[in-house]
Order: sequence, then structure tokens, then C-alpha cells
Amino acid sequence: MNKSHRDSIQVLDCQILAHYQFEGEQYILTLDSPEIAKATKPGQFVHITVSDALAMRRPISIMSVDVDNGTFDLLYKVVGEGTRQLAERKIGETLSVIGPIGNGFKMTDKKMPLLIGGGVGMPPMISIAQAIKASDYDPFVILGSEVPFPFTPELSKMGNPCPEASHTMPL
Ligand SMILES: Cc1cc2nc3c(=O)[nH]c(=O)nc-3n(C[C@H](O)[C@H](O)[C@H](O)COP(=O)(O)OP(=O)(O)OC[C@H]3O[C@@H](n4cnc5c(N)ncnc54)[C@H](O)[C@@H]3O)c2cc1C
Repeated sequence: MNKSHRDSIQVLDCQILAHYQFEGEQYILTLDSPEIAKATKPGQFVHITVSDALAMRRPISIMSVDVDNGTFDLLYKVVGEGTRQLAERKIGETLSVIGPIGNGFKMTDKKMPLLIGGGVGMPPMISIAQAIKASDYDPFVILGSEVPFPFTPELSKMGNPCPEASHTMPL
């Protein structure tokens, strides 16, 4: 482990604040964690225990953070048992999360950044776009996906809320 990670990676129980389903078995999960929201750099990910039945954690990239509200969002696609069980988790439940993990992207001072992502490489592009926008530049983002990517607030409202959903995604 890189020394710079030692002080930032944490094991936390994070409450599910929102959980939306989208076309193509895609889900957006909003978790409560001021610690992760504050510590995350674009390109990092978390390791999640999806249920008590599956011991092995699943890695999912951090798509966006809301430092003011102390939350972060994940976008995942159901591909197997772990992500299927994650999709069944309800608002108010807690998930064990280790993170943020990884080196993250190295930010440059280039003024016209072009971001390209496909498949599970898309959520980190949203994360870095969020950081670049906060520094007053407008990134150009190209995303490749077989199914529509639910990343705008308008699209997020069109998702089917999982039971008891009450939040929209803060992008
Ligand atoms: C650093 C990192 C970040 C990631 N970020 C994200 C993310 O932001 N969003 C996200 O949806 N996923 C992401 N993934 C992939 C995610 O971790 C896997 O999809 C998940 O662990 C699969 O677990 P499972 O138990 O559902 O499927 P498994 O039971 O492990 O696999 C079931 C079947 O699906 C296949 N499979 C597994 N993963 C994928 C995949 N990604 N694409 C296509 N087929 C697959 C397997 O080969 C297997 O045949 C990331 C992976 C890594 C390593």
C-alpha cells in the first residue's frame, strides 16, 4: 500500500440514502459517509460487503461525491451474484465499506480536458468531470455504453426508485 493511502482508507458502516434502478440493470446507490466524501480523489473506488451471505467484497468506483451533504454515489451494473444481492439492499440499511482505495487520477493543469470512458470505466469519468468543473473548466466527456448512462439529474429522476427511495442523485 502506498504510504499516502494509510491515513485515508477507512472501514465504515455506511447507510443507504438512495437506491435507483435504471435501464440495463444499472443502479445508482447513494451512501452516507462524510469521511469518504471528504477523502475521495477522482478515480478511487470502494470495497463493499454486498450482503451477510457473501464474504468477499466487491470493488465499485466512486462516481461522485457531495462533500456538503457527506454522501457519495456509486453506479453499478448487475453482472453476477454479488451485484444482484447489492441490488436488493434497501434504503436505511447499512453496508460495510472500505475506502477510498486506489491512487486516483493525476490532475493536470490542461484547460480543455477530454475524458473517455466505457463500461465500468464510466463512473470514474463522472468523478473527474465533477472535480474539473469545480476548478472552473468544462471537460468534454465521451462515454461508451450498450445502455443509456443515467448521469444527469433529469435522467436520475426517471429511474425506478427501489423501495422507500426518497432522494435524487446530487450531480
Ligand atoms: C477497481 C474496480 C472498479 C470497479 N468499478 C465498477 C463500477 O463503478 N461499476 C460497476 O458496475 N462495476 C465496477 N467494477 C466491476 C465490479 O467489481 C464487478 O462487476 C463485480 O465485482 C461483479 O461481482 P458479481 O458478484 O456481481 O459478479 P461475479 O459473480 O464476480 O461475476 C459474474 C459473471 O459476470 C462476469 N463479470 C464480472 N464483472 C464483470 C464486468 N464488469 N463486466 C462484464 N462481466 C463481468 C464474470 O466474468 C462472471 O461471468 C469495478 C471493478 C474494479 C476492479
